[in-house]
Amino acid sequence: MSLAHGRDHLAIPGPSVIPSRVLQAMQRPAPNIYGGELVALADSVRADLATIARSANEPVIYLGNGHAAWEASLANVFARGEHLLALVTGRFGRGWARMADGLGIEVTTLDFGATTPADTSRLIESLTADRRVGGGPRIKAITAVLSDTSTSVRNDIPAIRAAMDAADHPALLMVDAICSFACEPIDMDGWGIDVMVAGCQKGLMTPPGLAFTFQNDRAIAARRSLGTARCVTPYWDWLPRIEPSMFPERFGGTPPTHHLFGLRAALDLLAEEGIEHVWSRHEAFARVVWTAVEAWGADGGLALQVPDPAHRSHAVTTIGTAADDATRLREWCEQEAGVTLGVGLSAGAAEAVTSDALFRIGHMGHLNPPMLLGTLGTIDTALKALDIAHGSDALDRAAGAIAGINRGR
Ligand SMILES: *Cc1c(COP(=O)(O)O)cnc(C)c1O
Repeated sequence: MSLAHGRDHLAIPGPSVIPSRVLQAMQRPAPNIYGGELVALADSVRADLATIARSANEPVIYLGNGHAAWEASLANVFARGEHLLALVTGRFGRGWARMADGLGIEVTTLDFGATTPADTSRLIESLTADRRVGGGPRIKAITAVLSDTSTSVRNDIPAIRAAMDAADHPALLMVDAICSFACEPIDMDGWGIDVMVAGCQKGLMTPPGLAFTFQNDRAIAARRSLGTARCVTPYWDWLPRIEPSMFPERFGGTPPTHHLFGLRAALDLLAEEGIEHVWSRHEAFARVVWTAVEAWGADGGLALQVPDPAHRSHAVTTIGTAADDATRLREWCEQEAGVTLGVGLSAGAAEAVTSDALFRIGHMGHLNPPMLLGTLGTIDTALKALDIAHGSDALDRAAGAIAGINRGR
């Protein structure tokens, strides 16, 4: 007998749970799109996004998903035939690089596998070699994913910037923060990021549909100096969106009215909590998840994908199982209990996209202890129902970890 009843729980790494206040803010008639409250609201949204990003410049907003932000960012920086060095720590980093290839950009990939972040000594080697080629450095930009949502590996972006500085290389640093934005610490200007991309459906708790690119003055200068071989087409061009002659030009046409209302409510929730508290809450919940998985793994086939806690995302956790246990577990949780876990995405270029021996827990956005403990308790129940070997005290330890956080330890 399935006990899935009442409100289903989505524990995938995006879209994340949408707060009632966000949904309610969207439940209203369409506004004027040429003036009135929407203009001030869009200004406030851009300003607040820049504050969370710690970016002096406001973002450009596209009606689109993360892939739209990927394409927009590449198209505004590169001309066809220019060189990109892509640091890959999972499927998302690879996807961004593939998109660059599709735009006619020359891509070199440094693949660091699926369990560790980018090794900066290899980056320094590549950049140093690039400086020595005839005609000076060719690599125009480097792409890196802060937290790759497939592997849950988190890169050390300041270390990547330090490596670029150590090699004295002028490339732009482009960072995918789609999984991390409003979940994990980000300091765009302080970390020396030139271009950063994000979306609204993960830490920002809003239905999928808004994509953001943040670009510093160096990146905008790169856009301005693109020649006729530029990749960017009029719709994706930063320039009219940064300096619109009338309000809808900021969005390349009709603004995403209701998404803006929803996002405004989400930004209010984040401001009320305080972004540093939001980050700490995500880190605390991530540690609770790791504690539970380690306990399950003590006596069975479950294991965290990323061995070193310092290399793990605070927004998503990838878990390995034996054979096809991950798929059986996900299906049980969804059908029998109304909890949806993230599918396993394999990291390698040659492998199938999905894996039956991996699953992911999204722990991003609108989340509290009953939601998190409910997810972990449902997984524990599924392990029992499916006779998958597992350590016995995962829930006890998870509860203890939450009690420890609460006591300020
Ligand atoms: C979700 C995600 C994407 C892709 O976003 P879509 O909205 O699915 O296009 C890209 N990169 C990262 C790190 C993500 O988490």
